[in-house]
Amino acid sequence: LFISATMEALSILSGILLLLLSGAQSHEPVLSEKLIRDISNYSEIALKIIDYSLTGPGANQSYNRLATFVDRYGPRLSGSSNLEDSIDHMLYLLQQDGLDNVHGEEVNVTHWVRGKEIAQLLEPRSAELSILGLGSSVGTPEEGITADAVVMRSFDELEERKDEVKDRIVVFNPTYVSYPVTVAYRVNGASRASKYGAVATLIRTVGPFSIYSPHTGMQVYNSSVPAIPTACITIEDANMLDRLERAGERLTIHLYMEAQTLPMVISRNTVAEIKGSVYPDQVVVVSGHLDSWDVGQGAMDDGGGAFISWQALSIVKGLGLTPKRTLRLVMWTDEEAGGIGSQQYYQRHREDADKYSILFESDEGVFLPYGILFSGSAEAKAILQQIGQLLVSINASEVYDNGGGTDVDWWREEKVPTASLANHNEHYFWYHHSNGDTMDVLDPEEMNLCSAVWAVYAYVLADLDDVLPRG
Ligand SMILES: [Zn+2]
Repeated sequence: LFISATMEALSILSGILLLLLSGAQSHEPVLSEKLIRDISNYSEIALKIIDYSLTGPGANQSYNRLATFVDRYGPRLSGSSNLEDSIDHMLYLLQQDGLDNVHGEEVNVTHWVRGKEIAQLLEPRSAELSILGLGSSVGTPEEGITADAVVMRSFDELEERKDEVKDRIVVFNPTYVSYPVTVAYRVNGASRASKYGAVATLIRTVGPFSIYSPHTGMQVYNSSVPAIPTACITIEDANMLDRLERAGERLTIHLYMEAQTLPMVISRNTVAEIKGSVYPDQVVVVSGHLDSWDVGQGAMDDGGGAFISWQALSIVKGLGLTPKRTLRLVMWTDEEAGGIGSQQYYQRHREDADKYSILFESDEGVFLPYGILFSGSAEAKAILQQIGQLLVSINASEVYDNGGGTDVDWWREEKVPTASLANHNEHYFWYHHSNGDTMDVLDPEEMNLCSAVWAVYAYVLADLDDVLPRG
């Protein structure tokens, strides 16, 4: 999951706009009797999908497939041979599963490498600080950087104390509010401090909880100021440095990072389909991203989303169902640098936007599901709410607003509906982008339920008479 503060601000703005627009509407959309009947007629198929996924041949399949995959390949950073080897294997697995049109679509992706990295507190006492360099960070000179540090609790404090920043390492220790809000320090902290002459930045991990785990993620340089090395530190160390500074101690830190950005390389979005029987050119997309950060196993972010999306096709195929329009799985590449692979997919396919009924993306956890989040017209939402009724038996019938994800949000420009999985992901940011993102975070039965939700929506939407209305 990548999100920048700007993107968040935009989505809040568009949310307000939507609110204003919906307030202006005088009536709720009413579905035709025929459409309600058509959707109700899928209740038997929906139950079959649920049984298949919970207790039938699909039970625990997505979890077991993912475990085998991430245990073998580990984390899959964009630009790495690890990622490309895992994509090769993924294409093989999808072919073995009997899916149609299995192929990789080539795209240009970022190639950042971490290298060795060390942070050492020298004063007031010697201690190693656990760090993870942030994606796109530059490295230090070979001899490293040794400098006194100042601790800033907010950008406001940085502005107030800007005269103290020159030639210093700036430690940001903002209180965690929420990921979309607090991530601004990770994304923009380096350049904000560089503007006043800082030589490096250490950012408190963006998350609500820690057992001494640094969490990496993307950061973005402002090209008008020098690019300085930047890494995240643990919440515990950020708080300790904060206390030491308040106690009047002089803080001296030595930082060494080999990080560098290499030229872009070719990767692939991984595609597989169940070809539609009546409208093969029209598609419903289910998706997650296959790339990950270079720590942990990339199991939760976003192996889980990618593998429940595969599972949705597996279930439909396993039940011998063929929808009228094509059900397409896309496992995106280089999501973590800001949706690099999906943006090129969009640019290449946007001329066919009228053939895309909806794009689903799961990139916010595959924990216990309770519905979906949706972005699109009120009429389309009413259709999804009707389909949600097919999931009452597993308590996953709710449809909320503001669906989508980094990889599918591009399509909103063409008014194509998007959706994501509403799930109990309250602990998502405990593990996100850290060495803690392993299979142990996930649960096979929860993934069975997520797969069933995904399969019911995807199949019914691919099989209805019409693509979803735009808007
Ligand atoms: Zn993700």
